[in-house]
Amino acid sequence: MSNPPHVPGPRSAPASDVPALQAVGLRKHFPVRGVRSHDVVHAVEDVDLELHRGRVVALVGESGSGKSTIARLLAQLMPATAGQVLVDGQDATVHGRRAFRAYTRRVQMIFQDPFASLNPIHTVRYTLTRAVRIHQGRLRGEQLEAALTGLLERVQLVPAAQYVDKFPHELSGGQRQRVAIARTLAADPDVLLADEPISMLDVSIRLGILNLLRDLRDRLQIAILYITHDIASARYFADRVMVMYAGRVVETGDAESVTQEPAHPYTQLLVRSAPDPDDLAARAHGAHGEAPSLVHPPSGCRFHPRCPFAVDLCSAEVPPLLEVGAERQAACWGYSDRPDAPVLGSVLDAYGDRSALAAATGPARPSTVPVEEDLS
Ligand code: ATP
Ligand code: MG
Repeated sequence: MSNPPHVPGPRSAPASDVPALQAVGLRKHFPVRGVRSHDVVHAVEDVDLELHRGRVVALVGESGSGKSTIARLLAQLMPATAGQVLVDGQDATVHGRRAFRAYTRRVQMIFQDPFASLNPIHTVRYTLTRAVRIHQGRLRGEQLEAALTGLLERVQLVPAAQYVDKFPHELSGGQRQRVAIARTLAADPDVLLADEPISMLDVSIRLGILNLLRDLRDRLQIAILYITHDIASARYFADRVMVMYAGRVVETGDAESVTQEPAHPYTQLLVRSAPDPDDLAARAHGAHGEAPSLVHPPSGCRFHPRCPFAVDLCSAEVPPLLEVGAERQAACWGYSDRPDAPVLGSVLDAYGDRSALAAATGPARPSTVPVEEDLS
């Protein structure tokens, strides 16, 4: 017997403020391959994170800072070295395939490249039917058709009949990403982990996808983790921002204040530099812009070799996340009252000019959202 079609309607936020998904002390060390090698890549170190229904958290940081590793740990695609993942406050560590399948009903992931994540030999109908049957039972006939149409309408691919029998190569990048999002919605998830969902799309359609995700956040009260290199799109889309540097969280807070008044010197570099991708001279400056080794990460604060304000304390001890405002924290000794703490100043002054500043933030990347006016 088939189940009735499952059409999730608008939901209301639950009364309690227990996070839909939470990570506590998450750590991932990857072994380095090689004969008798005991080295590990310290990819993620002691990360705490909360995702609440109807809210977006942006995870921002340069390449290799551990963002995708966090997403994969939260999706439980690989085991953590240490730490815990909780769903609705309960330990949710999965053991075995059945438990994993149940978990994917709650927590779904969207990837960067919709062309790679959709099988090119299958039509939209096949891809979505498979997802519907995994998560909603063996629907057939009209019930199945209604479920497919509902999913395509939810991601604004209308009329659905125009898209349902297409192959991925017959769709644009933005349409493919919408199909990938529709597939995740078949599970009616509480949490979406979106790993750079717009960075491979044409600039002109990026806002459309972010607005679609925002609509899903509001109508379905989904909790979203939005991974990006681009702090401008984080400001546009997210409620809270977490900034990662070399596997550690260096700053968290509401999106507006983190992006407008960054506290950590690294966040200041990210926000203030706005690197010009054509300015090769700036990138040639990059001596102090090297990303650190994660096999032998810098002692103390991992940012200290690149920080213009670093003092001995910064290389000696790892700074904890310190309160720097209402629900805002920064992992920088400059905010402690220790007598040996560094004195922070303006990163712009410290680097002298914008070119050196751009070089210090690492490889330049264009913004993932089109123009400044669209951000207001
Ligand atoms: P990007 O912005 O380029 O996507 P990221 O912030 O998502 O970067 P991760 O992919 O999480 O970074 O990688 C963090 C670190 O972990 C990197 O140094 C990477 O080389 C390493 N790493 C990731 N996956 C593995 C793996 N399976 N085995 C070994 N090392 C890995
Ligand atoms: Mg990544």
